[in-house]
Amino acid sequence: MDTITPYLMEVINLTDTTKYCANCGILIEDDAEFCPDCGVKQLIIQKEVKEIKNPGLAAVFSFLVVGLGQIYNGQIAKGLLLLVGAVISGILMIILIGFVFWIIIWIYAIFDAYNTAKRINSGEIIT
Ligand SMILES: [Zn+2]
Repeated sequence: MDTITPYLMEVINLTDTTKYCANCGILIEDDAEFCPDCGVKQLIIQKEVKEIKNPGLAAVFSFLVVGLGQIYNGQIAKGLLLLVGAVISGILMIILIGFVFWIIIWIYAIFDAYNTAKRINSGEIIT
């Protein structure tokens, strides 16, 4: 038992979700409503509310329709902007240069949708 205990402790440390008290700064349970030390009420991180975005799906959406992946990610204004940019580029295709813009916007939209979805999932971006 003595040999396995440090290993178990490490596993617990890795899997345990902890946070710090907003008042005194001690390490407390992630889902603790009150700090066990100072008793101050903690802000509960609403994990349930946080949507998980599928980066692959976001990329596919932007692949099919420019900006759709951004809208899926909750970045509606950005998605619409990209869509408008793609439409304008589509019109400019008559004079050929639009094709270049359209490709750039399209590729950007796909990669941005993918990366943004990943960043939303990691909590880097709050939508
Ligand atoms: Zn505290």
